Amino acid sequence: MRVSFKTFGCRLNQAESALYQGLFQSNGIDVVPFGEECEICVIHSCSVTGRAESECLRIARRLKHSAPQMLVVLSGCAVESAAESRLQKLGVDLIVDRAHKNDLVQIALSRLAKPYIEPDGKCVPSFSTHRALLKIQDGCDFYCTYCIIPYNRGAPVSRNFQGCLDEARAFIDAGFREIVVTGCNIGCYRDQGRTLPDLLEALAALPGLGRLRCGSIEPGTVELRIAELIAAHPTLTPFLHLPLQHCDDRILNRMHRRYTVAEMRDILEKILDLVPRIALGSDIITGFPSEDDQAFSNTLDFIQEYPFSNLHVFPYSERSGTAAADFPERIPHNVRRERARELIRIGSRKRREYAAGWIGNRVETVVEKFDRQGGACGWSAEYLACRVADVPPAQREQMTGRELQFVPEKLDGDTLLGSFNTQLQ
Ligand code: SF4
Repeated sequence: MRVSFKTFGCRLNQAESALYQGLFQSNGIDVVPFGEECEICVIHSCSVTGRAESECLRIARRLKHSAPQMLVVLSGCAVESAAESRLQKLGVDLIVDRAHKNDLVQIALSRLAKPYIEPDGKCVPSFSTHRALLKIQDGCDFYCTYCIIPYNRGAPVSRNFQGCLDEARAFIDAGFREIVVTGCNIGCYRDQGRTLPDLLEALAALPGLGRLRCGSIEPGTVELRIAELIAAHPTLTPFLHLPLQHCDDRILNRMHRRYTVAEMRDILEKILDLVPRIALGSDIITGFPSEDDQAFSNTLDFIQEYPFSNLHVFPYSERSGTAAADFPERIPHNVRRERARELIRIGSRKRREYAAGWIGNRVETVVEKFDRQGGACGWSAEYLACRVADVPPAQREQMTGRELQFVPEKLDGDTLLGSFNTQLQ
C-alpha cells in the first residue's frame, strides 16, 4: 500500500506531514511522491490567506474527482477555517480536524480496515531534505489583528522538554546533521519552568548534532539569552528570523503586535553587539489598513538601517474572520503591491550585500544535493545559498547531508560560489 502527501504552508505543516509519513512507514506503507499512483493521499492544508485556503480545497476536490478509488484525507488549517458546507461539497473521504490530528494515521488506516500498529518509540518523521524539523509547540493566543492562526490552531501547547530532546536524538541517530526548531509561536515554549533558551541550550549540547537552527521567533518574545547562546555554541546557527511585520508604532499597535520600534531597536543592537555577523530575517506586511506614506517610510528606514539579509514581504490581504478584515482606511491593492515591490528590491540588494561580505571567508554549507554539473548545493549557517564546484564524483555520495567548508570566490545572484579545490579541510 502507498500514501502520498501534498503539504501546503509553513514549516509546522511540513513537520506534521513528516510525522504522519513516519507513522505510515512504520505501519508498512510506502510514501510516494504526490502525483504517483497510491491508495491514500493526504492534503495537509494551509489557510493563512483566503487564496491559500481555496487552492488547498480546489486540489482536494480535483484529486477526489480524478481518482475516486483513492482515500483522500484533508487535514490542516483549512479544515478549521473553511465553512462546513464548503468542506462537505469537496467529496473527500476524511476530514481530520484539530481535535483528531494526532490520530490521523490511525483513522485513515481504520477506514481501509487495516490495523494500526503503535510505533515502538523509534518512529522518526520522514523528511525530504537533510534538515529535520523539530516541532516543540503548537498554537498561539496573541491574536494579531490580521492573523487567522489562533482561530485555527488554538491556544499554545508546548511539548514535553524531554520528549523534544528524545526526538532530536532520534533524528541524529537517523543521520540528520541539522535540526530546525519549529512551532507556531516558539517564544511561548514552556515546560515546567523551562523556556525556549533552556531547550535550545540542551539541544545544542546533544552529541552528533552538526547544526541547530532556531525557527522564526516573535520579536516581542525574543530573549537576549538566545543571542548569548548563539555566540557561545558553534552548533547554533547565527541566524535569527524576527517577523517584525511593520516598523511604525501606530501600525504595530493596530496590528496588535506586542512591541514598539524602540524596543526592537534596543534588542537588535544588543543582538548585533553579541553576534556582529549574525544574519537577520524578517516578514513585513505592506498596505495594512491606514498605512500612510509616513508609516511606510518608517518601515523602509528601519529595514535599511539593520542588516536584514532574508526579507519576506507580503502585500496585506484581508483574511475573513480576523479583526483587521473589517478595519476602515483600506489601502488600494496597487499601492500595497507597489510598496511590497519596493521593499522586495531593497531586500534583494541587502541580501546580495550581506552575501558579498562572505567572499574570501570560510563558509560552511550542509550539502543538500548535487546539481547536473556536479556542484554541491546547500545552505550556509546564515541561510545563504551555496554552490561548491568540482567535487570529485567518488566523494559525492558520502558528502550528501554533511557539512562542507569552503571559501566563496564570487556570487551568482545571491548564491555563494566556490570550488572544492579551495575548500578548507
Ligand atoms: S503571533 Fe500573531 S502573527 Fe504570529 S501566529 Fe500568533 S497571532 Fe499569528
